[in-house]
Amino acid sequence: MAKYYITTPIYYVNAKPHIGSAYTSIAADVLARYRRQLGDDVFFLMGTAEHGSKMAQSAEKVGKTPQEFVDEMSQQFEQAWETLNISHDDFLRTTQPRHEEAVKLFFEKLKESGTIYEADYEGLYCVGHEAFMKEDELTPDGLCPDHKTKPELVKERNWFFKLSSYQDKLVELITSGELDIQPEGRKNEVLAFIQRGLEDIAISRRNVKWAIPLPWDDSQTIYVWLDELFNYCSAIGYGKDDALFKKWWPADLHLVGKDIIKFHCIIWPALLLAIGEAVPKKVFAHGFFTVDGQKMSKTLGNVVDPVELAQEYGSDVVRYFLLRDFSFGNDADFSHTRMKERYNSDLANGLGNLVSRTLNMVEKYFDGKEVPASVVLPEEVVQFAKDADGFVEALAFSKALTNMWKMVAWADELIEEYKPWELVKKGEVEKAQEVIAQAVSVLRLINDRIAPFMPQAHEKFTAILSAKPLKKPSEPLFARKD
Ligand SMILES: [Zn+2]
Repeated sequence: MAKYYITTPIYYVNAKPHIGSAYTSIAADVLARYRRQLGDDVFFLMGTAEHGSKMAQSAEKVGKTPQEFVDEMSQQFEQAWETLNISHDDFLRTTQPRHEEAVKLFFEKLKESGTIYEADYEGLYCVGHEAFMKEDELTPDGLCPDHKTKPELVKERNWFFKLSSYQDKLVELITSGELDIQPEGRKNEVLAFIQRGLEDIAISRRNVKWAIPLPWDDSQTIYVWLDELFNYCSAIGYGKDDALFKKWWPADLHLVGKDIIKFHCIIWPALLLAIGEAVPKKVFAHGFFTVDGQKMSKTLGNVVDPVELAQEYGSDVVRYFLLRDFSFGNDADFSHTRMKERYNSDLANGLGNLVSRTLNMVEKYFDGKEVPASVVLPEEVVQFAKDADGFVEALAFSKALTNMWKMVAWADELIEEYKPWELVKKGEVEKAQEVIAQAVSVLRLINDRIAPFMPQAHEKFTAILSAKPLKKPSEPLFARKD
C-alpha cells in the first residue's frame, strides 16, 4: 500500500475563510479522497496559523486576548471545512503545545547544524505580510503594494539562517525534479528568483510577543513563517514519534497559493536540508480569484463566502463548480451567474436528467428483472474514464470533470440513437435492454469518478444504483434551480 501525505497551507485566522482557501482545501480533499479510493494510505493535514503581531493587533481591535481571538477564529475555519465536507485527518493549530514543542526542537537542531548566526539587522518590515520587504518591492511613495501601509524600519539584533549557502543545492533539486514545482511557470519563477542570488534570512524577532520563544534566548521569538512551515513536520510527530514521522515524511504534495511559493520552494527545503531531512516531493501553486472581473475586497463588498455558497447550493455544487469552471493553477474569475448556469446545465439537466431517464426506462422495460452488472462498453467511453483518472492525478481537475461529462454525453447520444422505446414497440425488447444496460454501466463508471468531487451526490447515486430491482429515483439527483 502506497502512502500519500498531502497538505494545504495553514491559513491565517485574522479573517474568515474565503473562496481562495476553500479552493485549496477542496482540491486537496479531492486528491485525498481519490487516493483513499485507490487504496493508498492517506494522511491529509490542514490547520491554522495563529501567531504574529498581525494576529495580536486583530485581537486587540476587537477587545480580546490573542488566545481568545485565535480560538474563536480557528473554530470558524474548522466549521467551514465541515460545511464543505473536507475529509482531513488532522487539524493542527500553531498554538498547540505539540506544535510549539516540535518547533523548539527544530530550532535546537538548526543551531546544532551551524547554519545559523547572530547579527544586527536593519530592514523594512510589513506587519501585514509578517515579512521584511526590499525597497524595490514598495510603491514609489514607499508603501507596501498589497497592504497600502508604510513598513516599519526595524533595527535589531536577530538570528539568521544561511539561506545563501543553499543556492546551488536548491537549483539542483528543482531542475532534477527531486523537488517538483508545478505548474511549470511557477517553477521557472522560483528558479529565476534563486539565480538572482539568495540572501540570508532573519529567523527570530525581538519585539513580537505573540510567538514561540527562541529556546536559548528569551528576548527573542521565532519568526512566524518558520514556525508555520514546520507544521508539516510537527503534525506527524517530529521529535516525538520517530516511526510515525518516518512513515509520512517527506510530504508527497504541498498545495499552496501562488503568493507563498517562495516560502515553500526556497526557504522550506533549505531549512529541511539544514536539519538533515528530505525535501517535499512536490509543491503545486494555484492562482487567485477575482469576482466578476474585479479584485475581491471588503470595500467593494464582493468577497465570496464559501460557507454561504454551500448553504445556498450544497457543498457538492460548490466543490464541483470551483474545480470544473477554473483551470487549477491559473488565476480565475468567479461569477454567481455562471455558477447557477453550470449547476443547471451540467448537474440538473446533464447528469441528473440522464440518471432519471435511464432508470425510468429500466423500470419500464426490464419488468422487474435485474440489469446485467457488467456489459462490454466501446473503447471510446472506457477511454474517457481512464483519461478522467489521469487528469485527477495531474491535478487537472477541470479536464477530469470534462471527461466524466463526455461520458454523460456519450450515454445521452446512445439513448437518442437507439431510442429503446421505439425498439420495444417494434418488439425488439432484447436490443432495447442491451442499450439501457450499457447506459447503466456508464452511470456506474461516472458514479465511481464523481465520488472524490461530490461525496454527497455519490452517496445518493450509489443508493440509486444499488436498488434491487433498479427503479426511477423518487427525487432527482440534482433538482433544477430557477
Ligand atoms: Zn504588506
